[in-house]
Amino acid sequence: MSRSVLSFGGIFLVAVAVLIFGLQYTGWLDIAGLFRPLPTVDAAFQRGFRSDSMAKINRLRSSMGVEEVKGDEELQNFINDWISRHPDPENIELDSVFTMLQAEYPGAQYLAANLISSNNRDELLSEMTGWSAVANTDFDTINTAVFRSGFHLGALGVMSRRIPEFNLEVANSEGGKFHNSCPHCGKTHALEIDRDSRTLILSCPYCELPFDVLAADTSGTIRRACDFFEGFTLVEDARHVETLSPEQRIVFLWGRIADRCDYQLDQDRSSARESWKTPRQTWDEKSGDCEDTSILLADTLSNAGFDARVAIGWNGNIGQHAWVVVKAGEKQYLLESTLQKKITLDCLLELEEASQYYQPEQLFDAKTIYYSSARPDRFNKNYFDTKIWKAVPDLPRTVAPKLSVR
Ligand SMILES: [Zn+2]
Repeated sequence: MSRSVLSFGGIFLVAVAVLIFGLQYTGWLDIAGLFRPLPTVDAAFQRGFRSDSMAKINRLRSSMGVEEVKGDEELQNFINDWISRHPDPENIELDSVFTMLQAEYPGAQYLAANLISSNNRDELLSEMTGWSAVANTDFDTINTAVFRSGFHLGALGVMSRRIPEFNLEVANSEGGKFHNSCPHCGKTHALEIDRDSRTLILSCPYCELPFDVLAADTSGTIRRACDFFEGFTLVEDARHVETLSPEQRIVFLWGRIADRCDYQLDQDRSSARESWKTPRQTWDEKSGDCEDTSILLADTLSNAGFDARVAIGWNGNIGQHAWVVVKAGEKQYLLESTLQKKITLDCLLELEEASQYYQPEQLFDAKTIYYSSARPDRFNKNYFDTKIWKAVPDLPRTVAPKLSVR
């Protein structure tokens, strides 16, 4: 038994020797290199390899007119440490490198990793610098970690760019790319604000749930939808509040706004940029489009004590649209804020009677953005059910001063 095994081993060795000779002869594989002594991979070797990689990559990048790469010392130390403790660095799953780096450094949202092996340093270097990602403008750092694996040298290369945490002020002043932690699923993702958009619905790429609604104001500053509610109040006669029904009060407040403000599309205004107005602006300028008048109306109703929300979504007849929903006792009404006629009780549309054309996607008031994953035919009949409409959790809010108009 043992003989035959040895015999088998002998035949196998001969076959391998012939194959090795063949490969060496044809130049396919540097077998002889296997027997050259491998360099000692110490800290000096690591630094030298990385700085040679960086120099070669930067020669290429500057010839292409691309920003040079630097090192990211924190990431570099982390990778070195991780590789040195890894039991089998040659078989690392590159996805696990991304997961680990992004968990440790949430700003490292732009990553490329390369795992190579060779018998000598020069070849390793030329493989590393011949990697297609080294010319990519999405990255601004290169980090490398070399390791010995049997008779080979191996190297993990990581191209990266770290981006700051999302901040609306910085997005407004400087723009750029950010990372953001999803309030629904907690995962971190990259975010870039498209400043030319009128309304920005920010959704998480992982759980696909919306986590914020932003819009440009008339000065071009991007603000959170909730912050357009500024505490606008139309003062009512005290007798009103006591004697009128909730519906009559809603019609009275809506009527004051509809009488004063004309429907006007953004394009008709002098500024070319599409934007949202604050309630005060819509009131003072006596005109606005669907978002402007909806925000003014919902803000006014909220400050008169009603539960009112702006709905943004689609209307089959109009396209992207905004309207108002308000609660009066157990009843819910849809208010079409662009209605250009005398507002009477007949204009109040109970949700049960409202057209299927209204398909809300998000709702918001002064504090909260609401989202729904229910089917449109369910949620267009109910805008306040907490089982259908969920609040986006924990968004920082700025506090706006109260405004009163007589
Ligand atoms: Zn998410």
